[in-house]
Amino acid sequence: MTPRAMSNRTRRAAFLCYHSIAEGGPPFLSLSPELFERQLAALGRRGWAPGGRPTLDALASGRRLSTPQVFLTFDDGYVDNFTSAFPLLREYGWPAIVFVLPDLVDRQAAFAWPEVRGHAAAYPQIMRSLSWPMVEEMAAAGIEFGSHTCSHAHLTRLGDEGLRQELHDSRSRVRERLGRCDVLAYPFGEWDARVADAAAAAGYRFAFSVRNDRGQPDDILSIPRVAVDHRDDGARFSLKLSPPGRRIVLSPWKDTLDRVRSRRDGPQPSGTPAAAPITDRSGWGSTSMASRDRESGRS
Ligand SMILES: [Zn+2]
Repeated sequence: MTPRAMSNRTRRAAFLCYHSIAEGGPPFLSLSPELFERQLAALGRRGWAPGGRPTLDALASGRRLSTPQVFLTFDDGYVDNFTSAFPLLREYGWPAIVFVLPDLVDRQAAFAWPEVRGHAAAYPQIMRSLSWPMVEEMAAAGIEFGSHTCSHAHLTRLGDEGLRQELHDSRSRVRERLGRCDVLAYPFGEWDARVADAAAAAGYRFAFSVRNDRGQPDDILSIPRVAVDHRDDGARFSLKLSPPGRRIVLSPWKDTLDRVRSRRDGPQPSGTPAAAPITDRSGWGSTSMASRDRESGRS
C-alpha cells in the first residue's frame, strides 16, 4: 500500500465515466438522454446512493462505506452535459464531476484533438465544449468541476515541463473561475507513476483513470472508472455495476479477452481491427470496446 492507497476493497464505490449525453451522437461517446434517465432511475431502484466529496475523503482515509455509492463523472465537458445531463441530474438529485479543458471552455470551442477530428467533422453540434456561464451555473448547483488538462494531451509522452504545464495551468484556470479544482481525469486514461507524482505536485488530490492497468491497489491518483455507453441498458447496466462485472471491465486482461473474442467472432461492425495493440489509449468496456475507444478518442 502506498501512502496514496485508497480503500475500496469491498467495491462499495463504483465510478462511472460518461462523455456526451445526446441523441444521435457518435456511438460509444454519446448515449441518449432517455437512456441516461433510465440509468439514473435504475441506480436509485437498485439501492445505489450518490457518491460525493465526503465519500472520496472517506475512501482516502481508509474508511469502509456503509452503503454502496456511485460516482458519475463526465470527461471533456460536452455542451450537452449542460443542456441534457444537467436537468436530469437535478431532477434525480445526483451530483457529478465534470472534467473540462479550460482553454476550450473559453471559446466554447470544438473538440478537435487528432483522435476525435472525424467526429468533430461529422457531429459538429455535439463535439464542442461547455461555456463558462454553463460551468458556473452547474457549479452553483453542486456539480464539481475538475481538469482534463489544457490540450487533451497524452501525458505519459510529455517531458517534465510540458507535463507540469498541462496539469498546473489547467488547474489554475479552473480555480480562477470556480475557486477550487483538485480533481483530474487523465486524457485517454493514460498515466504512470511520474504522471501521478506530477498530478500530486500540481495540487490535485484525486485523479481518475479508466482502468487499473497494473493490477495495483486502487490509488487516489489513479481511480479506475467504468465507461458507460449506448448499449448499457437493463441487465447489461446492472452487470457492469456489480462488483464481479466491474472486476472484469477493469481488468488488465480485458483487452486480451476482447482480442480473442474479436478473432473468434470476426470483424466488428465498426471496422475495428481484429487485433488492436494492447497499449491502453483510453478505455475499455465490452466486445472490442478498447479498440473502438482508440478510434473514438474516448476519455
Ligand atoms: Zn477526454
